[in-house]
Amino acid sequence: MRVAVIDYDKCNPDKCGHFLCERVCPVNRMGGEAIIIDEENYKPIIQEASCTGCGICVHKCPFNAITIVNLPEQLSEDCVHRYGVNGFVLYRLPVIKEGMVVGILGPNGIGKTTAVKILAGQLLPNLCGDNDSWDNVIKAFRGNELQNYFEKLKNKEIKPVVKPQYVDLIPKVVKGKVRDLLKRADERGLFDKVVKELELEGILDREIRQLSGGELQRVAIAAAVLRDAHFYFFDEPSSYLDIRQRLKAARLIRKLAAEGKSVLAVEHDLAVLDYLSDIIHVVYGKPGAYGIFSMPKGTRVGINIFLDGYLPDENVRFRPYEIRFTKLSERKSQTGEVLVEYPSLVKDYGSFRLEVEGGELYKGEVVGIVGPNGIGKTTFVKMLAGVEEPTEGKVEWELKVSYKPQYIKADYEGTVFELLSKIDASKLMSSFYKTELLNPLGIPELYDRSVNELSGGELQRVAVTACLLRDADLYLLDEPSAYLDVEQRLAVSRAIRHLMEKNEKTALVVEHDVLMIDYISDRLIVFEGEPGKFGKATKPMGMREGMNRFLASVGITFRRDPDTGRPRANKEGSVKDREQKERGEYYYA
Ligand code: ADP
Ligand code: ADP
Ligand code: SF4
Ligand code: SF4
Repeated sequence: MRVAVIDYDKCNPDKCGHFLCERVCPVNRMGGEAIIIDEENYKPIIQEASCTGCGICVHKCPFNAITIVNLPEQLSEDCVHRYGVNGFVLYRLPVIKEGMVVGILGPNGIGKTTAVKILAGQLLPNLCGDNDSWDNVIKAFRGNELQNYFEKLKNKEIKPVVKPQYVDLIPKVVKGKVRDLLKRADERGLFDKVVKELELEGILDREIRQLSGGELQRVAIAAAVLRDAHFYFFDEPSSYLDIRQRLKAARLIRKLAAEGKSVLAVEHDLAVLDYLSDIIHVVYGKPGAYGIFSMPKGTRVGINIFLDGYLPDENVRFRPYEIRFTKLSERKSQTGEVLVEYPSLVKDYGSFRLEVEGGELYKGEVVGIVGPNGIGKTTFVKMLAGVEEPTEGKVEWELKVSYKPQYIKADYEGTVFELLSKIDASKLMSSFYKTELLNPLGIPELYDRSVNELSGGELQRVAVTACLLRDADLYLLDEPSAYLDVEQRLAVSRAIRHLMEKNEKTALVVEHDVLMIDYISDRLIVFEGEPGKFGKATKPMGMREGMNRFLASVGITFRRDPDTGRPRANKEGSVKDREQKERGEYYYA
């Protein structure tokens, strides 16, 4: 079965020399019609039945607008929805089970939201034809676990609640105080409980428009949990939250399932997804072109398959490499040459005071920075970057520093290529940087785009790339995972690790994603104190000591998966959790 998808946002027939694809297509040249021109919309259409799949048009199109794939014939029976001729195609849907949290794991643009819109009854799937009724959907899913669900959906017996992905957009549509919003949502009489669990007491009388990203996220999760529904969907519940808040939110969502509700969650922080889910669907394919929901897997197996990049039962490799984590005991520690020693520092804002213990940094190492929100991590990094003056102590060094701030602005007039060429044009051509940084982060596809039109995730990838392209001794990256999907997080982690190792450079990385921290860090700086009031930063310490100290303050233990080596959060109160807490081993080596 051949599927041809054209990204009409990228396609520009005037700029490719007038329908280049049509002119180079061998079928057309022989008098056939694999590509026809839709004169009305001034766009090409690929007729899948006539196309031989030679791929010439794919390579010739200067804007990478065309995707042609050959998919197994039997998949055609599982086609759920197609956004028009040559549009994105979705195959299969996730299962929905009462009393279970079903986790969805896959990159952005792969059809997760489309699937949820269908399950929430907001989008009638066309079954990749001209379907116009829910009755046909029920027929198509006969014998499938979803048949019953769709029957109820058709009879309006299912009430869905959705926690949206972009919580920053909430103030545009919801006005008023947090208390009033949550009181209106409180259909289950759980207001006090939920407010306490998500620590919202202090902001109940704030206006929605005054809230920070992390506060908006917790309010949105609370509002969803308070509703009385059958089906709950949480799209990226961990964005903007620190690790403790992420796990608290996850616990609350799990409680919904324990009460018999059906829950679906998309999450890009793998430690959180692991903690949250009972079963998992891996979604694979090509973002923007097609997406396939795998059969449901157990959580451990599902995440491991994802890290392997290979689905054994479907015999599909969806990533050319696998991701492996090294045990702490096998990592190098402080073997390199000292890069620099920095002194003890204090920053006093009046209402907030930060004390930093002085320490040393080594060449070729990555130091992770962990701690709750509002504890001074960004302030510390800004002092090292020379953006903020310490109140006591001085950062006096001759180092070249490259800094990626937490909040990135798109205030550049020009294209991505122009921006990056100004930093270092030769590295854009180097095969080392292409392999280690540019290609894995999908940067060449963005070259022609205007910087000020990029989405959050695109801008983050460009900002991380810009930071790593600069010639520097010390790289400071404040939350590089924000807005990135799981695949991009893995790519960014690998790029940071490899570049520091191979170039013998040093990086400090502020991060909440535990798998990323584990993957990239040689040592850790731990922030402790009382968020918003007082923060204290330790000097860099070994991973084991640092993680133990950090996780003890969060009250959660991790073990290692025997196959991939990845850290897995223990369920609270489990045998392992109790044993590890007793021994003070919060982070298993
Ligand atoms: P995800 O939630 O995994 O990021 P989506 O389900 O939002 O993915 O979108 C998958 C793809 O479907 C997008 O890349 C886009 O190309 C396409 N798409 C989404 N909505 C529409 C639409 N209304 N019309 C045409 N194409 C769409
Ligand atoms: P983190 O990065 O750990 O979330 P930050 O360093 O951003 O923490 O902030 C720590 C505390 O310092 C917060 O309470 C914040 O409100 C406060 N703060 C940050 N910048 C300023 C400033 N320029 N003036 C006053 N207070 C500030
Ligand atoms: Fe030109 Fe590419 Fe569009 Fe074909 S798909 S008309 S080659 S821009
Ligand atoms: Fe024509 Fe080959 Fe493109 Fe198919 S893949 S439309 S046959 S050029």
